[in-house]
This record gives sequence, structure tokens and C-alpha cells, in this order.
Amino acid sequence: MTEHIQLHDKRFKKFISKEEIDAVNKRLGEQITKDYNGNEVVFVIVLKGSVLFATDVIRHVNLHCTLEFIRAESYGAEMHSSGKVKVAHYTGIDIRGKHVIVLEDIVDTGLTIKEILAHLETMQPASLKIATLFLKPEVCKGTVETHYVGFEISPLFIVGYGLDYNEIGRNLADVYILDNE
Ligand code: 5GP
Repeated sequence: MTEHIQLHDKRFKKFISKEEIDAVNKRLGEQITKDYNGNEVVFVIVLKGSVLFATDVIRHVNLHCTLEFIRAESYGAEMHSSGKVKVAHYTGIDIRGKHVIVLEDIVDTGLTIKEILAHLETMQPASLKIATLFLKPEVCKGTVETHYVGFEISPLFIVGYGLDYNEIGRNLADVYILDNE
């Protein structure tokens, strides 16, 4: 596994391995299976960053489930949240009376997920929970409740496994952190 990579003008170093991510996906998928106890679930996948996480975690879910996709943009080309979140979906999402789990790549300030929840709540699902692969607890400071969390991390910028730096790096199997040395 490569220890350092260069994306645009920034250098990143290896932070979390593919194997650690696999183990976490298994843990989360099995926990969801247990908690929903045979009930059908709608997974709402937040584009673009959550795609790799979603496709891996749902393979560990032993329930009937359907998939919906939603788009939320906050960062643009920057490494910090712009504070403005746009939510969009391209197809009609039918979640009324259904159990919904939003699959998010990372919760940083929590603004994006809050905006997504507000949007989905208007559609009156039976229940609405969040599964996020990464959480920066020092940044979001409990502003939003996250029900399934893969890794709690420090407030640094990471890339790989779906997460980008100005649109590149999403295909990396491992996760890398900004190298400030
Ligand atoms: P929030 O609204 O919680 O501040 O930010 C959520 C969104 O910002 C995530 O869905 C993700 O697209 C982006 N984001 C937050 N932290 C990081 C990070 O460390 N790396 C990358 N690549 N994107 C991040």
C-alpha cells in the first residue's frame, strides 16, 4: 500500500487501511441487520462521496432493502465547508411510511446531514437514521445525532474511498490524511 500520495497541490499520507474499512463495514452492516429485525429498509445514498461506502456496507445487510440517491454539495473545491448546502435528487424518492437509513461518507460540521434530514423528514418516513463512515466529533459537537458511526476522527482533511480533494482521489482503496510536514 502506498504510504504517501500527491493530489493536485497537496501531499497526503496513509491513515486508514482498506482492511480496517472492510471490518467496519461488516460491523455496521451486521448491526443494521440486527436492529431492523427483518423489516425492509430504504438506503438513501448521498452522492458522490458515499458511493463506495454504500456499495460495501449494504453487502453485509441481510434484509430486503431498496436504494435511493441524493446529492448534497457543500465543499466545492475547498477543504473546508462552505456553510451552504444544496440538496437535490434526480428521481422521485418514495419514503413515506418506510424505514430510512441515510448513508453518508463523513459528518464534519453536520450542516449537510442536517439539511438532508430536514428534506427527507418532510416526506414522512416511518423512521429516519444516519449511518456515517467517518465522524469528526470535535467539529460537529453533537449538533446532529448519528446512529451508526464507522470511525471517529480528528478534525483533519481526509481523502480516498469515495472522498475527494477537488474531485480526485475517490478511487483510492485506502484513506489518506493531509500531510502537513
Ligand atoms: P459538513 O456539512 O458535515 O461540514 O460536511 C459534509 C460533507 O463535506 C461531506 O459529505 C464531504 O463531502 C465533505 N467533507 C467533510 N469533511 C471532509 C474531509 O475530511 N474530506 C473530504 N474529502 N470531504 C470532506
